[in-house]
Amino acid sequence: MTGKPCSLDKLRFCNRFSRELPADPITDNYCRQVSGAIFSRVQPTPVKAPALVALTDEVAELIGLSAADCDQTRLARVLSGNEILTGMDPHASVYGGHQFGHWAGQLGDGRAINLGEVLGPDDKTWTLQLKGAGATPYSRQADGRAVLRSSVREFLCSEAMYHLGVPTTRALSLVQTGDSVVRDMLYDGHAKAEPGAIVCRVAPSFVRFGHFELLAARGDLSLLETLLNFVITTDQPALGARLREGGPAERKGIYLDWFTQVCHATRDMIVHWTRVGFVHGVMNTDNMSVLGLTIDYGPYGWIDDYNPDWTPNTTDAEQRRYRFGQQAAVARWNLYQLANALYPVIQDADALQAILHTLPTSFGNARQAMMAQKLGLSHEALSHPLYGDLLDGLERLLCSQPIDMTIFYRCLIEFACQHETDADAEPGAVSLARSVAPALYPSETNGSADAHGNAVPDANNLPLFRDWEILYRQFLQIPAFNTANRRATMSAANPAFVLRNYLVQQAIDLLEQGDRTEFDTLQRLLRQPYDTLSAADKRFAARRPAWANNRAGCSMLSCSS
Ligand code: AMP
Ligand code: MG
Repeated sequence: MTGKPCSLDKLRFCNRFSRELPADPITDNYCRQVSGAIFSRVQPTPVKAPALVALTDEVAELIGLSAADCDQTRLARVLSGNEILTGMDPHASVYGGHQFGHWAGQLGDGRAINLGEVLGPDDKTWTLQLKGAGATPYSRQADGRAVLRSSVREFLCSEAMYHLGVPTTRALSLVQTGDSVVRDMLYDGHAKAEPGAIVCRVAPSFVRFGHFELLAARGDLSLLETLLNFVITTDQPALGARLREGGPAERKGIYLDWFTQVCHATRDMIVHWTRVGFVHGVMNTDNMSVLGLTIDYGPYGWIDDYNPDWTPNTTDAEQRRYRFGQQAAVARWNLYQLANALYPVIQDADALQAILHTLPTSFGNARQAMMAQKLGLSHEALSHPLYGDLLDGLERLLCSQPIDMTIFYRCLIEFACQHETDADAEPGAVSLARSVAPALYPSETNGSADAHGNAVPDANNLPLFRDWEILYRQFLQIPAFNTANRRATMSAANPAFVLRNYLVQQAIDLLEQGDRTEFDTLQRLLRQPYDTLSAADKRFAARRPAWANNRAGCSMLSCSS
């Protein structure tokens, strides 16, 4: 340790996970199958010249860290794994998973190293995890490292999601390592050296569906039950108390209640993704958090022009298993896998089935309620006999030609609120087509533009716009909302700023050349995603420019990271 003690030295590590769960007895760092344990102790591999690129003050506060009182060089050493603080207990955990629908066996933290769990000032517990800190027993053929571009993407997107109100792991820091990492970004034989980086992720827990699946696949029911009891006790205090106080006969009910909570948290996360236009890209069961947090930001992307079939992940380009419109169905499939894994300890297939059978309706209802907020409609709209038609018609409209999802809904706020003052006007008086013009992408069939350079709807699509406008106006007549609460509801459900793929790519390109202005601007904007952007920042809320349509990183991404 150098210099005077600072808040780094006062972090309170409690390390429940590594204290209470069984450890792999082997501490040498070589690749292997690990059974009878939940994790392996492993030290981060030191990096050459760690330099702090960014630190999120609010996340630091959560764990009781104040960057201001720390020496920046030391902070970078700690957040790259070059210095291990007293109280830390570095380890990688072992899990399995279904990847693209197929059982993949043991996976584990191949490049993530948990430093330990910290008690925050409010006594909440947070796990600190370095991503890219070097090889672990679970690295298989890979190097345990991460490149700057993927680390910037993870760092920015975790925080963007948090400020959008989407459950997510957080990002405390981004450190450049000073080492280079070789990657073949497009898997086309053009490997090159790229700058390496490490993100320190923070979450109450990083337990995944795949943790349970691996234990079930190996028939290790005793450890499966141990992990289940641990997760229930640490994540769900109320259920944990029932577990402590109740007898063995009550266990089954508690486990089923926990599974129900995982289902609900997963559902809520997916509904948020649908709301903001987020596509995860790799919804394998090893990337599903039992807390319903968005986790493992890889080839994710944001919907620009609305397309439920879109996925940013080039590895999934043919099957499109993880496309935007399929995420709810995939989440339910993943929950089936979790239910299968829990079955050996719960031993009640009917009870698990009963929960699983509620999911389509439960997901559907949650989506419908969320859509009502996006459309500025009160709860009464949900029971309106034409509500299904309203949503179906909107889907058809959004798919009819390239329409920017984020801009469309922001324009709809103005349309819906003008309607209030214009309720008696004929349909078309505040024409929807005119209101949403800024959201329309010029297309081949649609070369014409209005006076502001916005495209106008394809002539063929005008009836769709008109019919939907008429129907929407009927819903806007439902008297439950006044203009002020309609505007507030819509403005809180429809972000003005999302972390568009091309924006992050631009920031990465500049950062790699040593220019951090764009990166800093994105860090600032993502903190207030629901505020209308100032004139100076307007370009960050604009449609994707044509040059970005087919550029790697802007419209498509590989898993290479
Ligand atoms: P992902 O799909 O990125 O979540 O990764 C799937 C599995 O591959 C996980 O077990 C990761 O830990 C592992 N993995 C991915 N990239 C690397 C890497 N560069 N080094 C070691 N393991 C990796
Ligand atoms: Mg993963």
